[in-house]
Amino acid sequence: MSWETVIGLEVHVQVNTKSKQFCGCSTEFGAEPNTQTCPVCLGMPGQLPVLNIEAARKTVLTGLAINADINLISKFDRKNYFYPDLPKGYQITQFPLPIVEHGYLDIPVNDGEKRIGVTRIHMEEDAGKSMHEGLDGVSHIDLNRSGVPLMEIVSEPDMANADEAIAYLKQLHQLVCFLDVSGANMEKGQFRCDANVSVRRSGEPLGTRTEMKNMNSFRFIKQAIEYEVNRQIEIIENGGAVVQESRLWDSVKNESRSMRSKEEAHDYRYFPEPDLPPLRFTQDEVDAIRAGMPELPGQLRKRFETEFGLSPYDADVLTQTRESAAWYESLAAAHPADPKRCANWMINELLGRLNEAGKELAESPVSSQRLAGLLERVGDHTISGKAAKDVLDIMMESDDDADTIIETKGLKQVSDTGAIDAIIVDVMAANPGQVEGYRGGKDKLLGFFVGQVMKASRGKANPGMVNQRLKALLKG
Ligand code: ADP
Ligand code: MG
Ligand code: ZN
Repeated sequence: MSWETVIGLEVHVQVNTKSKQFCGCSTEFGAEPNTQTCPVCLGMPGQLPVLNIEAARKTVLTGLAINADINLISKFDRKNYFYPDLPKGYQITQFPLPIVEHGYLDIPVNDGEKRIGVTRIHMEEDAGKSMHEGLDGVSHIDLNRSGVPLMEIVSEPDMANADEAIAYLKQLHQLVCFLDVSGANMEKGQFRCDANVSVRRSGEPLGTRTEMKNMNSFRFIKQAIEYEVNRQIEIIENGGAVVQESRLWDSVKNESRSMRSKEEAHDYRYFPEPDLPPLRFTQDEVDAIRAGMPELPGQLRKRFETEFGLSPYDADVLTQTRESAAWYESLAAAHPADPKRCANWMINELLGRLNEAGKELAESPVSSQRLAGLLERVGDHTISGKAAKDVLDIMMESDDDADTIIETKGLKQVSDTGAIDAIIVDVMAANPGQVEGYRGGKDKLLGFFVGQVMKASRGKANPGMVNQRLKALLKG
C-alpha cells in the first residue's frame, strides 16, 4: 500500500509597523542590543499594553487577501511558559477567538491549481533573542525583538508533499510582500515556518504528526519535510509508532532531532488577557481596509497577459515582485510600440546582466527610460538586435544614452539600398561559382551570401534588407 504525506504549516510573519505590538518602542532591525525597550516590552510589573492598531489593520488586510472571515470582535489571551527571553512569563496572543478565520490560498501545482485552507490568522508578539554562542559559557539576551508584532498564519493539513508546502510558502511570501504588511526578510527572521508532518497509508485517518520548528529558508524546509517523511515511514514499516513531538532541523548535518516530546510539552494554561479589551472593528472599517487593497499578484499577472499580450510565463516572471512589475510598466510606457520586446529585453537581457553582477533590480545602473531609448532604436532598425546587446553592455558601465553610444561606436545599421547593393555586387564578384550555383537552383546558397554580406558590412547591414536586395540582384 502506498504512503500519503500530510503537511500543515504555521507561519510567523513579522508585521512591518514602526513600533511594537503593545508599546511605542521601535521595531528597527539591527540596533545595539536592548536599546529598543521600555518597561512594557521588558515585562516590568504593573505596565499596561496598548494595542498597535496599525498591526491589527495589516492583519485584517492579509485576511481579506486570502478571502477569509474577519471577526469584528476578537480577543487576546496569555500563553504562559517560562523562558529567559520571555520577560513577562507569558506571550500575548489570540487563542479561541482570533481576528481572522477560514481563508484559503490557491497554489500552482503540476496540473493546475490546488486550494489550501487557511484555518486562522492570529495576532501575537515576538519574544526576545537569546545568544549562547561564543560567549564563554554565559548566555546573553537581547530584548529589542520582545513585543515586535507578529501574525501567525495557520494552514489546514492540506499539503501532500514538500513541493506543495514550498509553493504555499512562496505564494504566501509573495502575498505579504505585495500587501506591504511585512518586510518578509527570511534571513532577518521576519518570515519563519513550523512544519507539521505526518504520513498514513491511503484511506487511513490522519497519522501522528511531528512538528519541525522555526525554519527560515525554503531549501531547509523542503529538506526537513522530505527527511521527516522518510523517517516516519521507516519507523512505521519497522513496526514502530511515530511519537508526537517537536523537532529541530539541523541544516549542517541534514537531519532532524527531537526537541521535546508530547509528555514534556508545555501546558500553556491559556487564559484571557485581562489588560487588553476585546479588539473591535466595524464593518465600515473593514470595508475601508478592503478599499485600500493593492492589486494582488494573480490579478497583475492576468492584466499583464491581456493588456500587454505577454505569455503566462513572462507575466509570471515580471510580477514576482511589486518592484519588477512597476519597472516593467514604466518600460512599456516609455516604449509603447512593442510590450513584448520590452518583456524579452527586461527578462533575458537586463535581469540576466543584473544577476551576473549580483545586483537587485533596484540597483540597476540602467533605468527603464534608458532601456526604452535603446529599444526605440531596435524598433526603428537603426541598430540590429545584436548590436543593441553590445550597447546594453556599455550602458551597464556608463551613463550615456543609447543614441550617444550608437553614434560614438559607429553601430548604426546600414539601411541604405545603394550602400548594401554595392557590398552585394562585390560579394557576387568574389564568388562567381556560388552565383552560378544559386542561379542553377541551389536556393540554400542564399544563406551563404547573407553571411558574406553581413561580414563585409561588419555586421551593420540591415539583415532584412540584405535578404531582399540579394534575392533581387542574384536573379541577374
Ligand atoms: P498546535 O501546533 O498549536 O498544537 P494545531 O492543532 O492548531 O496546533 O495544529 C497546528 C498545525 O498542524 C496546523 O497547521 C494543522 O494543519 C497541522 N496538523 C494538524 N494535524 C496534522 C496531521 N495529522 N498531520 C500534519 N499536519 C497536521
Ligand atoms: Mg504548532
Ligand atoms: Zn517597549
